[in-house]
Amino acid sequence: MTAPAAADLLAWYDRHRRALPWRAVAGERSDPYRVWASEIMLQQTTVTAVKPYYERFMARFPTVRHLAEAPSEEVMQAWAGLGYYSRARNLHACAQAVMASHGGRFPDTEDGLRALPGIGAYTAGAVAAIAFDRPAAAVDGNVERVMTRLFAIEEVLPGARPLVREKVLALLPKDRPGDFAQALMDLGATICTPRNPACGLCPWREPCVARVEGMQESFPRKAPKKAGATRYGAAFVLARADGAILLRTRPAKGLLGGMAEVPTSEWSAGYEMDGAAQDAPLPLRWQRLPEPVRHVFTHFPLELSVFTAKVPAGTAAPSGMRFTPAERLGDEPFPSVMLKVLEAAGLR
Ligand code: SF4
Repeated sequence: MTAPAAADLLAWYDRHRRALPWRAVAGERSDPYRVWASEIMLQQTTVTAVKPYYERFMARFPTVRHLAEAPSEEVMQAWAGLGYYSRARNLHACAQAVMASHGGRFPDTEDGLRALPGIGAYTAGAVAAIAFDRPAAAVDGNVERVMTRLFAIEEVLPGARPLVREKVLALLPKDRPGDFAQALMDLGATICTPRNPACGLCPWREPCVARVEGMQESFPRKAPKKAGATRYGAAFVLARADGAILLRTRPAKGLLGGMAEVPTSEWSAGYEMDGAAQDAPLPLRWQRLPEPVRHVFTHFPLELSVFTAKVPAGTAAPSGMRFTPAERLGDEPFPSVMLKVLEAAGLR
């Protein structure tokens, strides 16, 4: 069996590279700001999901300076819907650090990048390779899949990661590390897919051990997943007669930090719905909607029972909350779960 060679992958990439909004055209150097922002957005989600957010985000914050100087609510609002809001906070903090400590230029080494807020091993490797052509390994889920198949790596993830990294570094071509990183990403995303990989079109079909053994889909080896217990809670949608809705802002730290929400109870596995009225922001005649809203976070599924009530125009918001006029609801940085709650209550 022949050994895999970077040249075969690069030849394939030169013919089949994806055109992506954050990717420079062939032969041109990528903009580190665009590469970095796209890599943060792409974590845990797909290119298709990210594209429209990315375009809007870049139109709003065309440079790292625009992003650093924007108010945090504006950044959260542009991010709303992408999930994982701690990333948006880190993104903002990172842009500010690049302005404050690096004169608005991203550091051009993996170590320099890793020292910035929210930049882990993967993102540092990806930005160093793609934007600065550094010989760095950017190992994400796609790359893990390709490498564990190519070499039939038996060790389960995430324990196998150092070995995967080693394999990538051993293959890395000195002259085109940025293209190699992007080629690996493209191969994993378009050919070496989780199910039914298109091995017939793969530039590494000859040396791929998993293909030769007909075992492609059994790699990467994974330990069985433990799902978190479902959490329950109550969400209170209070509409004033003038159409304004009662909202509050979640604490800056933690799940959905800094995002807008209608008042809710705590979310817990043992939440007692019978006592929900005690968690309501005002003692009113609350109507419970027949169907709860369901949402799945990374670590747990959530089921929120939605309660609605109306109050006269002129009612003041309880402390720490605000009434947002109906026509301004679109400006609030709602996470997806809250958009579902508002939709269930007929407000979207
Ligand atoms: S031959 Fe198939 S399994 Fe192996 S790397 Fe290529 S697409 Fe993936």
